[in-house]
Amino acid sequence: MSKISGKEIWVYIDLRDQRLFGFSLNVMARARELADAMSGKMAVVFICSPVDDESSSISRDQECFSISDAVSECISHGADQLYIFENTRLAVPRADLYATVLSNAVQERSPLLVLFALTDFCREVAARSACICNAGLIADCVDLRISEDNIIATCPAWGGDIMSEITFSDGFSTGFATVQPHSFSAVEVKGKPGTIERIKVDNLIMPKGLKLLARSPEPKEHRKLEEADIVVVGGAGLGSIDGFGLVRQFAAAIGGEVGATRPPVLQHWVNEDQLIGQTGKTVRPSLLFSVGTSGALQYTAGILESKTIVAINRDRDAPIFQVADIGVIADAKIFVPLLTDKAKQSVMRNLADVLGKGNVNDMAQDTGFGEKIQKLRESQNWSRETLAKATGQSPEFISQVETNEISPPVSFLVRLAGALDVDPGTFLNKEEKNILRDQRTQAFIKRTLNYSYETLTPEAENSHLRSFMVTIESHHDHKPVAYKHEGEEFIYVMEGLLEFTLGNKIHKLKKGESIHFNSDIPHKLKSLSNELTKCLVTLYTL
Ligand SMILES: Cc1cc2nc3c(=O)[nH]c(=O)nc-3n(C[C@H](O)[C@H](O)[C@H](O)COP(=O)(O)OP(=O)(O)OC[C@H]3O[C@@H](n4cnc5c(N)ncnc54)[C@H](O)[C@@H]3O)c2cc1C
Repeated sequence: MSKISGKEIWVYIDLRDQRLFGFSLNVMARARELADAMSGKMAVVFICSPVDDESSSISRDQECFSISDAVSECISHGADQLYIFENTRLAVPRADLYATVLSNAVQERSPLLVLFALTDFCREVAARSACICNAGLIADCVDLRISEDNIIATCPAWGGDIMSEITFSDGFSTGFATVQPHSFSAVEVKGKPGTIERIKVDNLIMPKGLKLLARSPEPKEHRKLEEADIVVVGGAGLGSIDGFGLVRQFAAAIGGEVGATRPPVLQHWVNEDQLIGQTGKTVRPSLLFSVGTSGALQYTAGILESKTIVAINRDRDAPIFQVADIGVIADAKIFVPLLTDKAKQSVMRNLADVLGKGNVNDMAQDTGFGEKIQKLRESQNWSRETLAKATGQSPEFISQVETNEISPPVSFLVRLAGALDVDPGTFLNKEEKNILRDQRTQAFIKRTLNYSYETLTPEAENSHLRSFMVTIESHHDHKPVAYKHEGEEFIYVMEGLLEFTLGNKIHKLKKGESIHFNSDIPHKLKSLSNELTKCLVTLYTL
């Protein structure tokens, strides 16, 4: 009979929130197999405020999940034994306090192994407990097996380039290990009615040196990455901060959040809170793009719950292709900008399709055109004012579009495309181009009705370049031009004397003189002569 047979394998249960609790269930699946292999028991350890305490629930600040539910879950996932260490002081997780409780329990009961799901908090509890117990700690293992009288753990080493096997020293009594929870899946085990032992922790002395000042849930904006439906992760393969910018642009085009592997974080191309992986965040989007990443285990640990993974790497043998659903062997610096252009075109096409429905109510109910515009604006980090400026509209107009109160004209999409650097020709269909043409014609007719225009270029309303004659009565203002557009304008005085105000500057132009200016700058015209003033105006709109 082996020296370890019949002993207990413990799993520390992380009760901080439901997601972390789920990690503990994953680790329990492996612990159950190990316990079976050595004819031992699998026990779980709860450290918490008393279970029947009203406030005793997981993640009090967010979704509520009671500790008694956690107890039932552990039983249905094969725990033979549940040790629940209770004291009201344990309501708030503190690694130093929890380690004191856990190490006392270990020294008293001598389990063979204490396992923790790999999270920052568990890592600290594990390290502190192992130190107090003067025991060995195997860090960050991806698998564990029994071999004779010992446990052998498999751990990535040298940045994940090699797998090492680590064991405890001969004759050890208890060993500790942190385990990558994504290496295993939770397994329900039928017919194992676990025994519950509630242990009141008396004389709990708060360790000196640390004082908890406040505790608050993580702000929602910090969880954007974890809750995102689309994530684009950039890796070292992007080469530089500018290269990493390609990933940001792509993410903005598809409304995704940006994540990173460790090298871009170390190089300060991105913030540390965008790190994905074992020591960073775990994401679970519907769609994840992994760009220029090799696929080290410490990184992939954070992406494995994604529904679809698309990897882009120029090395066909890169390990990331083993976890990817779709693999693209390409130079990211060439491929990603092409993908970004295509994505923008497809976003614009989608908006045009929605707009094509034409009915604001339809848009509001079925498709959320306004929401799409808002999402697009936010993904570009544009304020309403910025989008208004880019599309030649007012912020109020943008606000009404976003709340589906009004349906914008196709020309709005064209301006939006311009702001996104997308050629309208690439996403508008023939019919929409015709609508746009009609809208331009109508706008031109409306404008020319007000002024004494004489069109010199027939059907110029559909062109970017137009010329017309403006006649202004003696000592009269030309009707103010409410129409504003991007582009250039050129005025040539053919007869009379023109006072031309451009912004704050006043110009006096005699017959034969001309001026060339940016149409976006407010401008007005006045005749200063005793006769009519006639000008040739040529404008070029974008
Ligand atoms: C204890 C520990 C914890 C760790 N925790 C984390 C963690 O949480 N998160 C994390 O990310 N890392 C973590 N690491 C580091 C991890 O092991 C890897 O070193 C890291 O993930 C590698 O990042 P990478 O894939 O971006 O870079 P690399 O491994 O350098 O890979 C770059 C890839 O880009 C490809 N490439 C190069 N140029 C191009 C191009 N022009 N176009 C397309 N592809 C290109 C290359 O073929 C290569 O495959 C940890 C390491 C340890 C030891």
